[in-house]
Amino acid sequence: MKKRVSADFDEQLGLSDPAITRRDFVGGTMLGAGAVLLDMAAPGMLRASESANRPVDQLVGPDWTGPGGIGDYNKSNGNTHEVVNAAHSVYRGTWAQLPAGVVDAGRFDLVVVGGGFSGLMAAYTFYRDGNGSCLLLDNHPMFGGEAKQNELIVDGHHLHAPQGSNGFTWPPDHRTWDEFGLPKNFDELQWQRKASGTVAPLRIPDDSYSSMGFDMSEADTGFFYRDPSSANGHRWVKDPWANGFRDAPLPELVKRELMTMQHFEYREPFPADWKRWMDSMTYKEFLQKYVGITRSEVYDYLDPMIAATFPGLGCDVISAYMGAVFPGASAVATASGDPEWVDSEGSESLYVSFPGGNAGIARHIVKTMLPGAIEGEHNLNDVVYGRVDWKALDREGQKVRMRLGSTAVRVEHAGSPDAATEVHITYLKDGKPHRVRAKGVVMAGGQWMNRHVVRDAPESLTHAMGQFHHAPILTLNVAVKHWRFMEKLGISCARWFDREGFGWYTGLRAPMLIDGKHMPLDPSKPTMLTFYIPFTSTVSQSGLTLEQQSLVARTALFSMSYAEIEHKIREQLTAMFGDYGFDPRRDIAGIISNRWGHAYVIPQPGFYFGRDGAPAPREVVREGYGQVRFGHSELSGFQLWTTSCEEGERATKQILASA
Ligand SMILES: Cc1cc2nc3c(=O)[nH]c(=O)nc-3n(C[C@H](O)[C@H](O)[C@H](O)COP(=O)(O)OP(=O)(O)OC[C@H]3O[C@@H](n4cnc5c(N)ncnc54)[C@H](O)[C@@H]3O)c2cc1C
Repeated sequence: MKKRVSADFDEQLGLSDPAITRRDFVGGTMLGAGAVLLDMAAPGMLRASESANRPVDQLVGPDWTGPGGIGDYNKSNGNTHEVVNAAHSVYRGTWAQLPAGVVDAGRFDLVVVGGGFSGLMAAYTFYRDGNGSCLLLDNHPMFGGEAKQNELIVDGHHLHAPQGSNGFTWPPDHRTWDEFGLPKNFDELQWQRKASGTVAPLRIPDDSYSSMGFDMSEADTGFFYRDPSSANGHRWVKDPWANGFRDAPLPELVKRELMTMQHFEYREPFPADWKRWMDSMTYKEFLQKYVGITRSEVYDYLDPMIAATFPGLGCDVISAYMGAVFPGASAVATASGDPEWVDSEGSESLYVSFPGGNAGIARHIVKTMLPGAIEGEHNLNDVVYGRVDWKALDREGQKVRMRLGSTAVRVEHAGSPDAATEVHITYLKDGKPHRVRAKGVVMAGGQWMNRHVVRDAPESLTHAMGQFHHAPILTLNVAVKHWRFMEKLGISCARWFDREGFGWYTGLRAPMLIDGKHMPLDPSKPTMLTFYIPFTSTVSQSGLTLEQQSLVARTALFSMSYAEIEHKIREQLTAMFGDYGFDPRRDIAGIISNRWGHAYVIPQPGFYFGRDGAPAPREVVREGYGQVRFGHSELSGFQLWTTSCEEGERATKQILASA
């Protein structure tokens, strides 16, 4: 079904293009396509969803990526068209044979493929513990992986916001934190939590995640419902958890089930090996069987929230062991008394964030290994706000060098993996294939790429890599010139239930104070609203398999042009806030889209501890082969900046131990 949007309406939304075609991915159209897509090779899938007629090596173009803002990240907003086009050349088989004319780019002791937290920590571990030289390759124009930021200047205010990885808790052992020169404890970091210029005080959360559904006490959250019985067709309900959803237009049974789930205590006996037991079923099966959730509205509440937090998809496909961090199932973890799971760290377990999210941490790691790479001193202000000196990333003679915009397309041993002493890494940079040689390699990207890139892995390993499935997320940062429309509603965060709409949540973040300065926090001044958008409304509870849901969701992400995304978010904001003084033409100063096609691994039952006596795929991948080891957050099954660092460090230690 195609919906034509009138030019008048586009004009009202502040869109310059008067005729944007909006494809409707909700409901039957895309769901029906699931089985067909499953049989298509990835390029076919992408081409089928791309309206533009491009050459085969240009699946998507700049009109797909959209503007990237200003600063060091301005050409690196999510997976841009350059990143996607290079990656798809691998899937398409372009590099099945080593081409002629490969540029010899030198020899290193360690090559790390991937420049997110896992790769940065892998390189840092070599910097700290290894001897010789290390080269880090990443396919984006900027380091950080999913921990990047967007920047814009609006009415003289420099705004930062996360592209992905955002909130952090203190690392469990403080060790890495100290090594990167970050403040020694929470007391040394401060946030501006009180907004100026509000009629009444507002609770503002410290990061984008905590108030999505975990700690409602940190924010004043408004829930937006479509409601045909009300005069303007909708209803805002403030902080409904506080009074059992009394004013929400929901059936009484749904309200009861929501409250039961939220306050559930597990009193039944359960196996001592509760983790493996939970890993034997889906989260939805657990909620149905042990919590008694029957109503689809409860899953509509949960699905986008859990998808945006960890697995990218909903309750019906993920392992209940991952569910143990979410409502209902978390009661088992609590009842187990397992110290790993029972929250006892007080203020150090709070979720907080840097101006550009966890980009602030990634920049500290880079500054530690490559002091000249970020201008200024090694202090909070300079590391967070200093400009990158691109030349300093890849200088001859440095122990660690970083080469960006470089997609590894082939990794293979020089001879049999069991006996070879050298690995060859071919990468694509500026359209040309280059090759480096190394004693060892850490693959610090996800298995969706690795399984196509490592060419001589044993069958057991490629089989294990094939059991990793991934889901997409779209992160939008919308700069608004003011947020009086939210203040008028008395809210700092908004959650909406609108299957026909776009997104599901956004909110303010308390800005970090650095050297006494912070981004504005005043309803009359600009701010950046961050939207983490999974595609659960398209696929969850559809009956499609995990693999089908993954493909349909990713196709939905890929199919939209930037203009379409812009249209949808303007429309959504107008529907929610138009009656409260929001005017998209006047109030939106910029929209940056960051697409992550494989944002998260989707852990199916058995992902953590294996099934039918077979080892879990992640354990097989962690072993590696020959001189190649694997370290990526997805191997933990809980993707966080901390788990990424643990996996990257472990992989380099494996290499060093085998040398
Ligand atoms: C939208 C979103 C929000 C998140 N929010 C949080 C949060 O609030 N807090 C938190 O702790 N975590 C969060 N995370 C989890 C996040 O995954 C981790 O924090 C961390 O950033 C992952 O680091 P990584 O190095 O394991 O993976 P990545 O960041 O994925 O880094 C891997 C890098 O390797 C590159 N690569 C892969 N293959 C190749 C190749 N062949 N050649 C060259 N380069 C390659 C990739 O493109 C990427 O740049 C979020 C994730 C997403 C997607």
